Amino acid sequence: MRCLKDLNPKQLEAVQFFDRNSMVFAGPGTGKTRVITSRIAYMLESGKLPEARRILAITFTNKASNEMKSRVAAFGVDQKRVRIGTFHNFCMWVLKAYGDKINLSREFTFISSNQQLHLLKQVAKDANLMMKPNDLKNRISDLKNSSVDFEDYLNKTRSGTQEFQVAAADYQNRLYAHKLIDYDDAILHTATIFKLKPSILELYHNAFPYILVDEMQDTNRMQLELIRLLGGNAKHVMAVADDDQSIYGWRGALPTVIQEYIDLLAADKIILNQNYRSPQRVLDVANRLIQFNDGRTEKELVGRPNELGDDVIGRWFDTWKEEAEWVADKIVELHSAGMEYRQMIILYRSRHPSLKVIDEKLLEKGIPFQHFGKNFQNKKQLLSEFIVASMKLIADPNNEVVLSALIYAFAQRFELNDDFDLYEYYKKDSDRLTLDRLAQIHVEDEIDDAVQRTAEFCLSAKDLKSFAKLYDGLYKALNIEEDLAKYDETTRHEEKRHLDLMRDRMSKSVASTITDMLAEIELQDDSNHIDQRMNKVGVSTFHTAKGLEYKAVFIIALEDHFVPGRNGGRPDKEQEERRGLYVAITRAESKLFITHANQRTDWNGRIEAVRPSRFIDDMRKREVTES
Ligand code: ATP
Ligand code: MG
Repeated sequence: MRCLKDLNPKQLEAVQFFDRNSMVFAGPGTGKTRVITSRIAYMLESGKLPEARRILAITFTNKASNEMKSRVAAFGVDQKRVRIGTFHNFCMWVLKAYGDKINLSREFTFISSNQQLHLLKQVAKDANLMMKPNDLKNRISDLKNSSVDFEDYLNKTRSGTQEFQVAAADYQNRLYAHKLIDYDDAILHTATIFKLKPSILELYHNAFPYILVDEMQDTNRMQLELIRLLGGNAKHVMAVADDDQSIYGWRGALPTVIQEYIDLLAADKIILNQNYRSPQRVLDVANRLIQFNDGRTEKELVGRPNELGDDVIGRWFDTWKEEAEWVADKIVELHSAGMEYRQMIILYRSRHPSLKVIDEKLLEKGIPFQHFGKNFQNKKQLLSEFIVASMKLIADPNNEVVLSALIYAFAQRFELNDDFDLYEYYKKDSDRLTLDRLAQIHVEDEIDDAVQRTAEFCLSAKDLKSFAKLYDGLYKALNIEEDLAKYDETTRHEEKRHLDLMRDRMSKSVASTITDMLAEIELQDDSNHIDQRMNKVGVSTFHTAKGLEYKAVFIIALEDHFVPGRNGGRPDKEQEERRGLYVAITRAESKLFITHANQRTDWNGRIEAVRPSRFIDDMRKREVTES
């Protein structure tokens, strides 16, 4: 059978392991994802599964889910017979079908992060809670992530002050009233339905008796509960994980979730230790680094047989510009030696304006490239947010949460002073602001004109049947072209790409309502659309490169402040930062380049001196354990 070809005995055992829950616990590149995808193909091809039965394969990020999809497709498996997606995709699908059982409107969409911050600002103010919207957001999210259903979450909020409890309850009520959910709700609501309505859970047990989870170390308590519920008594859950690659602590996913899973599901552990991805020299660097973390389970990791590989190259530069220049030149060199652009990736810890120089140098040298997710500037894709918010209003013109967020987005776009409350200004002395009212405002300046035209379009667009026409209408009404023209070339390029992608998704959507289409789109990120045929160099954060592999990997800006980030002082955070770098290093199939500069611009464009990352020393030490 093609799907079993080349597998080593341990991998084979994992692929053919049935009748007990299991955990494949292994380091990077050992074939965990390969085991999952081979298992899917094996289950379908071997006839072990009766025709009508299905497999559900879930993971945390879009990128990891797409990786599974393309690998399964490569085995010639008909994708319709397997459901592969992220936790959020799966939950949205359940909620669209059964959300009404917990009185959730079928018309729900996801609240955007801007909308969420505005709403939280409002509820904090009304509850006299002295907490920044972002802190409130994180607090609520932490509590949700550690809960097993909504009731559990509500109980947890009771540990907070009276003001916090009022604000949290108000936030939830307003979301509910405005047919919005946040990302954490998607999972909590689903778990709640499964618990309150066992008959619905049973439908899923029948539909998906086999559950596979990739990148399990990225799951938090709330998601673990969902896996437990979905697994039921069937004992057909297989999860794969690597504690050293746990990098989503800020979303409540800790390396300890692996043991919790093993205990909760009484899972058998299968260990793999042959790495097929990287040459020994790359693994040596990775191993030296990760040894500095405590509390990890030591895993033997053997590199590709008889392959030491090239030396890992470390280069240090005086300035961030020289670093970018060198990376771009190296890419040109590798490309002329025959390496495809798509086989190369530039990785960095987190977005920062100074990294924009990378874009500039790549453009200058004519190297095609593509950001995975957002670009360096973190523009928050303001323009596409206008389109999404306006579309929500076309479907639901009385949605105050969305309307106020849209107005604030206009204020931001036209750079109004923060003290000026545009929403209150338009509302004047009426009870509430409506689209109708906005469509009739007296136009005095550019911003009134934009707001008025948008409102007018939203009111008149209800009957437009095609999503693409809606998009085009809004693009014009919102005067997006004009805004794009104000950006510098690289930002314009990125924003335009993002907008085009959005239009493309909208025009292809087969959803029957605007809200269903939006809920679908809100769950996709750019990385969904990285077209391998396009042959471009990837530019990505460590996080987004999870699970992927490249012939040449450039890890740039390896400086303190970036890696470990500013909160790296806390030992637990520093360990997570180390794991992030470990993930980055272990993406390399052949060549690994590590660079840093001594000078970089800060957020305000001022040049500052920076120090090399303390992790560089860790990677260099030859005999770590003896020192
Ligand atoms: P990560 O932890 O980074 O997600 P992983 O454990 O999921 O890594 P895979 O991506 O599944 O590892 O495998 C790494 C590479 O090794 C892939 O290119 C895969 O096809 C290849 N590989 C896995 N097993 C074998 C094998 N038995 N023979 C040859 N190649 C293999
Ligand atoms: Mg993998």
